[in-house]
Amino acid sequence: MEVVAIAIGGIFVLFYTLWLLFAVFKGLGLIFGEFWYNKVKWQNPVSRSEYIIVNRILSEKFDYYKGLSVDGKAKFINRIIDFRKTKRFIGMEGLKATEEMKTLISGAAVQLTFGLEKYILAHYHTIYIYPSTFYSKLLRKKLKGGTSGSGTISLSWEDFQHGYEVPDDKYNLGLHEMAHALKMDVLKGTDFDDRFGFYLNNWEKVGSKEFQNMQKGEPSFLRKYGGTNMHEFFAVCIEHFFETPQQFAKRLPDIYNHLCVLLNQNLINKKSDYSIQEGFAENINRKLGRIPIPKTIRKNYSHHSWHWSLTILLVGIFLTSWLTPLFISYTDLDFHESVCFYFGAVLLGGVLQYPLIIRRKVMSFGIYLIYLILGFSPTACSSILFLNKQISMGRIEEKHQIISWSYKKDINPFLKGSFVILNLENNAYGYFERARAFEYSTFYTVKSKKNKPDSLTIGFSKGIFGLKAFKENTVSFSLHKND
Ligand SMILES: [Zn+2]
Repeated sequence: MEVVAIAIGGIFVLFYTLWLLFAVFKGLGLIFGEFWYNKVKWQNPVSRSEYIIVNRILSEKFDYYKGLSVDGKAKFINRIIDFRKTKRFIGMEGLKATEEMKTLISGAAVQLTFGLEKYILAHYHTIYIYPSTFYSKLLRKKLKGGTSGSGTISLSWEDFQHGYEVPDDKYNLGLHEMAHALKMDVLKGTDFDDRFGFYLNNWEKVGSKEFQNMQKGEPSFLRKYGGTNMHEFFAVCIEHFFETPQQFAKRLPDIYNHLCVLLNQNLINKKSDYSIQEGFAENINRKLGRIPIPKTIRKNYSHHSWHWSLTILLVGIFLTSWLTPLFISYTDLDFHESVCFYFGAVLLGGVLQYPLIIRRKVMSFGIYLIYLILGFSPTACSSILFLNKQISMGRIEEKHQIISWSYKKDINPFLKGSFVILNLENNAYGYFERARAFEYSTFYTVKSKKNKPDSLTIGFSKGIFGLKAFKENTVSFSLHKND
């Protein structure tokens, strides 16, 4: 009997030890996994304590987040941090914008754009949070939310919360407004995701039949409000896509499938962070009656318009980088001062435009440097020098003795011809060739009368930016008839 008891006891101890070891390793694996993905792979700038708070908020409120892998969760947090940085959150009517509000509202945008490469919604800069429904003076009615064309989003916090508290009633204010913002970003031509921009027209074509039916008042799986216009149709489809994906795919398979393509995520595929599973397109394309999924997304630039910084870059390369040396040649800046002026504009412009361009991810840092050096700086410098020359705050006249002179062809690409360059006493204006230049023919017509060039009078205007700008010069001759 004793042997049996010891054997049973031994087995228990063995199993208990194994179970304990397993639990410890699983726990360690989780902690190290979180650490690895957050700190190493996604380089999330959050401390352990911040991570615990954000993770808790999202795990409690966001079913979407709960369904992600450790890697997916780290990516989600990474994008929330990035998104939050680019927006101002303003609490309205006495409400204080809390960390939880900022995290969850950013989460709605990140959820919507999780499959896309660009997720910042760069056109949008301010998010107003109201305690509950609010009155819009413009629309003269009470609203739960609104997305303006001028870069602001307004939300009723009560209704926002409701969207996530009841995850399958096809209502989600946060996703609804972010859907408007995502589409508006494309229509406004701010830096948006290529895939989304290329495919949007295609998706609208797929959805147009159902939309028209809704406009006629026919019953639909989609909420009636979607029939208001194409913008609301898209926003309502987004709500259904995230709240009731299975039913959506069953009832309106084409709209659902192509929405997966548009957003590059499939809510039904919970296994690998809602990614589009292998064979997704092939499976659909085999079925009769389905609108086929294209093998590759055709490029369609109908929505790709211009960011203002690119205009400045082009103006810089083709115009102002050529004009700047010309304008400098009219101004009393020597070589070193010109270089300081030019790179001062690069530095100042770089700091001031950083939030508008880099934070909003309009371009990479390398392109930003090229933009500053070849686009912004020459445009700013030539504008300042041009205004300095045009707006005069007074006149200065200076007279200098002439020591010698030399002949020069073409002073700069804009000032071509034959010139005489006068060398002045004490090397005055040695660096300022334009002020010492005199047209060859005029100079020699007078000089041929055997007069000796005596002094040069230079007229400057004192420009609005305090720089001397060259106006005109005259040579005085003294009679010199020795020979
Ligand atoms: Zn709407």
